[in-house]
Amino acid sequence: MDFSLTEEQREVRDWVRTFVRKEIMPLEPEVLRRERAGKPGLEQSELRELQLKAKESGFWGVLTPEEYGGMNLGAVMAALLEAELGRSFIQFRFGGSADNILFYGNDEQKETYLKPTIAGDRKSCFAITEPGAGSDARAIRATARRDGDDWIINGEKTFITGGNEADFTMVFAITDKEKGGVTCFLVDREMGWKSQPIDTMGEWGPAALTFDNVRVPHRNILGEEGRGFELAMRWIGQGRYLLPARAIGACERLLEMGIEYARTRETFGLPIAERQAIQWMIADSAVEIEALRWLVLHAAWQVDQKLDSRQAQSMAKLYGGVKANEIVDRVLQIHGGMGYTRELPVERWYRELRLLRIYEGTDEIQRRTIARNLLKGHASVSGVLG
Ligand SMILES: Cc1cc2nc3c(=O)[nH]c(=O)nc-3n(C[C@H](O)[C@H](O)[C@H](O)COP(=O)(O)OP(=O)(O)OC[C@H]3O[C@@H](n4cnc5c(N)ncnc54)[C@H](O)[C@@H]3O)c2cc1C
Repeated sequence: MDFSLTEEQREVRDWVRTFVRKEIMPLEPEVLRRERAGKPGLEQSELRELQLKAKESGFWGVLTPEEYGGMNLGAVMAALLEAELGRSFIQFRFGGSADNILFYGNDEQKETYLKPTIAGDRKSCFAITEPGAGSDARAIRATARRDGDDWIINGEKTFITGGNEADFTMVFAITDKEKGGVTCFLVDREMGWKSQPIDTMGEWGPAALTFDNVRVPHRNILGEEGRGFELAMRWIGQGRYLLPARAIGACERLLEMGIEYARTRETFGLPIAERQAIQWMIADSAVEIEALRWLVLHAAWQVDQKLDSRQAQSMAKLYGGVKANEIVDRVLQIHGGMGYTRELPVERWYRELRLLRIYEGTDEIQRRTIARNLLKGHASVSGVLG
């Protein structure tokens, strides 16, 4: 069993570590200042500029196949890079990627939707959740009715990430009520859907989308008619390990901040680092970060090996969400009153990391998946080692 990184993995990881330190972290004070003033931390043009800077060094499309100009680095490498990016609260992503399900499009759809999204010229959003259907995604009510060569879509979607910025959406609607058939449609904003921002406790907000008799050509069906649910599950399932991967970096940075503060902050004549209460918080956090790292890398490794990684991904997502929230809470506690202020990014991370327990499958839904896999015999308590 070899837990070491290859030379190439180390080199790529180190490049990203340096990029984050030199290009992203210096922007943090300004991003915090802007956010405190109720403005976006990073303008789209600034994000694009950073992405192009990374592209000059070849960083473009971490998981995108080479035939589409990507690096196709694989899941383990993607997880390692995501952890590095997570060390800053700035929501930077490398350019050159697109939602995995867009690769299921036909040639025409790839030209119109996939390639421009990879190039950064178009923005997509994934719309399945509705006011009455989140965890229970099969309970969606949005409908699409056939009308000649078109479909007419009606319904409401909610909490759609990027829904305000997207110029097209991958929307899921019922096309066969009797059989419960759901179909995915590629719908341009010009076709008539509307979006409304939703305020959240985080620094960015998703959107509510409204479809009021939106007419969409039949050729805009993504995948097969009636098989949209499978696409939706593929979208959600494939990259689940990337969310807790990002949390690894956030937790590492937060713990480093906590350690630094504990060394310098004195009470009753001693640095608080001398107190067992503080040491235990530091120790527990370090152990949990280490455990999270291996859960994430193991899930990513299973993806690369083309094994059924669903159990491992659910475990990594659940553990990441729960532990990142415990760790940020401890680090805030170590900082005392300062942790609660907006001068430090700790409270910002506290708000941001809370989302990890909710989207792309809540804690409870991950637990449900994990338990059901065990109860039905699809997974073993001994994991892949058997
Ligand atoms: C910021 C943000 C971004 C998002 N981005 C997107 C997006 O881009 N696209 C998209 O389609 N959706 C998106 N979502 C929606 C997200 O996936 C859902 O909010 C999430 O799946 C939970 O659904 P819900 O909010 O309807 O909660 P519900 O499903 O109503 O759940 C409410 C509570 O009940 C619990 N619960 C539900 N069922 C069970 C059960 N069987 N057993 C035990 N407990 C249960 C849940 O865990 C939760 O605690 C986003 C949400 C947020 C907040």
